[in-house]
This record gives sequence, structure tokens and C-alpha cells, in this order.
Amino acid sequence: MKATEPKDLIGAARSAGRSALDEAAGKALLARYGIDVPKTAVVKNAGEVEAAVAGLRLPVVVKVISPDILHKSDAGGVRVGLDSADAVRRAIEEMAQLPKIKPARVEGWLVEEMAPAGQELVIGGLRDPQFGPLVMVGLGGVFVEVLADVAFRICPIARIDAEEMIDDLKGAAILKGARGRKPASRGAIVEALLKIGGEDGLLMQHAGDIAEADVNPLIVSDTGAVAVDARFILTSQS
Ligand code: ADP
Ligand code: MG
Repeated sequence: MKATEPKDLIGAARSAGRSALDEAAGKALLARYGIDVPKTAVVKNAGEVEAAVAGLRLPVVVKVISPDILHKSDAGGVRVGLDSADAVRRAIEEMAQLPKIKPARVEGWLVEEMAPAGQELVIGGLRDPQFGPLVMVGLGGVFVEVLADVAFRICPIARIDAEEMIDDLKGAAILKGARGRKPASRGAIVEALLKIGGEDGLLMQHAGDIAEADVNPLIVSDTGAVAVDARFILTSQS
């Protein structure tokens, strides 16, 4: 596959009049900064599934691609653990009929490999009018949504800052492995934070273009980290 330059990914979205990158473009951008993303294929309809699945390791995940749907799972637009092309086709046909998906502009379906099991974290970014890009990390799910257990720093961050951000989290102990779960690789989290918020990281390099970044979740196993969802909101250009 031809590698797409970050500027082109952002430029393509802008020329299509979009205010955000879609998930596939967002993941391509992350990959250009060295962050692991699942191997992915995009299909327009159930008829294209066979060929797409042939290039992927089963089981796979299928997700709706629609500019009208921000929270895909709330709409029923994410199905995980599908173990055959048939299962993927059926999932697409079923999801297409759901009340929140049927009326939406569905541009296609993302079929992707499952990330290795691990702890779900969130890495985000936003642009402060005074300080410029900020990078954020939190533990996923209820930790972010209910407990707001997150840490922020002004970019660019150095390794020591990334380490401190992780230690700042009240739930940091969870990363060491609780209730029989394997620990989440601290090194992989630090690397991901640097690739996003470091000197040569994504947020610094595209400070003029990216208003908001949301990698939710980054799934961190004991050996690595994979960004399985990505959303980038672009700055409005004057
Ligand atoms: P949304 O946030 O829009 O609802 P996500 O793409 O984050 O959709 O998917 C919802 C959940 O499904 C994720 O939080 C994760 O638990 C799981 N998931 C999604 N993609 C993968 C994947 N490639 N491998 C493993 N789990 C996944
Ligand atoms: Mg998500």
C-alpha cells in the first residue's frame, strides 16, 4: 500500500470540506508517527468482505464509518471477535439496519484485526489558546469518564514528563496488573506519549492543523500498545 504523508491525510480531509479525519485516516496518521495500529481493510459493502478478510488474521472487528456517528458502539456500530468472512458479512448487514445507523451517511465499514488483550488507556491532545498543544493520558472507560483520572502536560514532553504523567494517575497501580491481569507495558505507554506529545511528535508537528486528538482506546498489553480508535478534529482555517 502506498504510504500517505501526514500533510496529504490532513489535506484530503480539508479539501473534502471535513472538520475531522475519519478513523482510517486517523490511524494512518498515527502509524506515520510510529504508533502501532491494527491491520485494517475498508469495505464499501458486504460484497467486498471476502477479499478484505483474506488479508487479515481472524478474528476481526467491524466498525461503521460515518461522519454522522461519533460514538460507534453507542450506535451499535462495533462488532468484535468475528471469526469468518460470513460472520463479518452478517454483522454488516445487521448493523446497517440499526435505528442509529440506517439514517446515517454510511461511507463503508472498517474491518480490522483484534489487538492483543490488555489495559485500555486514552491518549488525547488539544490546543490551548495560550500554551499551544497539550497532551493527555488517562486510564480508559470509567476512570476517564466517571472519575476524570487524567494527567495533562504542555507539549513538547520529554521522557521524564511522560513517566510523571503516568505516575500522576490515581489508578496507576492498575497498570501493574490487578486481579490476575497481566501488567500493562509502561515502556509502551511512555513511547506512545512521546510519539504523540514529544518534540518530533504528532501534536507538535501538526500544531496548526490539529485542534483535538483522541486515541480511545490505546490497548496496552504486557509487551506493546495498539491504537484501536482514533479521532482527530482539525482547526478551522482562517
Ligand atoms: P467507539 O469509541 O466509537 O465506540 P471503538 O473503535 O473505540 O468505538 O471500539 C469500541 C471498543 O471496541 C473499544 O473500546 C475496544 O474495547 C473494542 N475494540 C475496537 N477495536 C478493537 C480492536 N481492533 N481490537 C480489540 N478491541 C477493539
Ligand atoms: Mg473509541
